[in-house]
Amino acid sequence: MKLLEHEGKRLLARRGIAIPDGRQWPERPGSDQGWVVKAQVLTGGRGNRGGVVVVRDPDLLAEHANAVREIDFGTRVHGVYVEELLTFDHEFYLAAMINRDSGVVELVASAHGGVDIENVAPELIERMPVDPLIGVAGFQVRELTRRLGLDGEEATGFGAVVTQLHDALVAEDAELIEINPLVRTPSGFVAADCKVVLDDDAVHRHPDRDQPTAWETDGEFMNRCRDLGVIGVDNRPYLAADHGPTVAVLANGAGLTMATYDLIGLGNTDLSGAIELHGALSRGRDHTADVFGALFELDADIVFVNAFYQLRSTEVLAEALLDALERPGAPDKNRIVTRMRGVEQHTSQQLLETAGCYYTSSLDRAARKVVQVADMIETTVSN
Ligand code: GDP
Ligand code: MN
Repeated sequence: MKLLEHEGKRLLARRGIAIPDGRQWPERPGSDQGWVVKAQVLTGGRGNRGGVVVVRDPDLLAEHANAVREIDFGTRVHGVYVEELLTFDHEFYLAAMINRDSGVVELVASAHGGVDIENVAPELIERMPVDPLIGVAGFQVRELTRRLGLDGEEATGFGAVVTQLHDALVAEDAELIEINPLVRTPSGFVAADCKVVLDDDAVHRHPDRDQPTAWETDGEFMNRCRDLGVIGVDNRPYLAADHGPTVAVLANGAGLTMATYDLIGLGNTDLSGAIELHGALSRGRDHTADVFGALFELDADIVFVNAFYQLRSTEVLAEALLDALERPGAPDKNRIVTRMRGVEQHTSQQLLETAGCYYTSSLDRAARKVVQVADMIETTVSN
């Protein structure tokens, strides 16, 4: 998951790396010389597209903030960040990342920062692997700063950032932290821009960390799932143009959810997306109804609910589904296929069947029913 610039900078600041004073517009930091107005997007190269603007007149801040928000970056703009304008005499590039080939952290640095690193000649980029047991060694810092042409206090200052950056990568379970440019100011090195990519699989190790406001998979459905504390899968961007009837899946447990995808794949249907309940059921009927509401947003032709609990009743799940089906925009009941197993499952069966939804306790029968409904849809469409 990528962080927005201002989120990444907060992370750097927590690790002791200097960042410019900044606020999300319409707030602004105090500044004597002016401001830099920066569109918050999950792509680089904003500068070249007019997304980074130096503004010296405070009366022009609003105009520029509105203008950068309107730029088409091909991806959503998550607000505008306003920073104090820095004075610097040089732009460096500094990054720490996991090298996938060697499996260790690698430091990458260049005295030619500020531009896209892909455009810097390879011989001008220094790379240094870090021993995972030792961390960044003193001699490595000295070697790196020497190669970048730094000495004295400057080398010490740069070296401190190198160590902080490496330690931040490890402690935050990041895959990449890139500072470009790391600028040399009269009061030391400052991270003027950064890109932070966190390891999605390690999110649970940082419960205290704020949820990023933008994720790579940044859509209404995914955001809604995140707010509801469930795991969403949005497959719609990957559906072929000539896809068959679509199915939205709701299941409990990652294993059952994946097995359900496999079953869907056997028929003439395509998966438009899925939700893994992830314990949402214990948050009650209303909350679970909201989860169904999110699932319906996928606008699939068929909704397949596949729940299997050992020690829990599925009654709340059935009730929540029926609640959600009463809401405006909900799918037709003859497009709902439910398979529920759990304690006293007959209660759920009664509820669902009375309401006119297909119910079975058998996964096999449920899958067949999905295929049957899909066939019915296809026949209706082709007639
Ligand atoms: P990117 O194009 O998305 O990587 O955006 P950056 O934040 O890296 O900004 C691009 C360029 O704008 C930098 O390389 C700097 O040259 C310039 N820039 C950014 N912040 C400042 C600042 O505070 N002062 C000045 N003078 N230039 C800045
Ligand atoms: Mn940059």
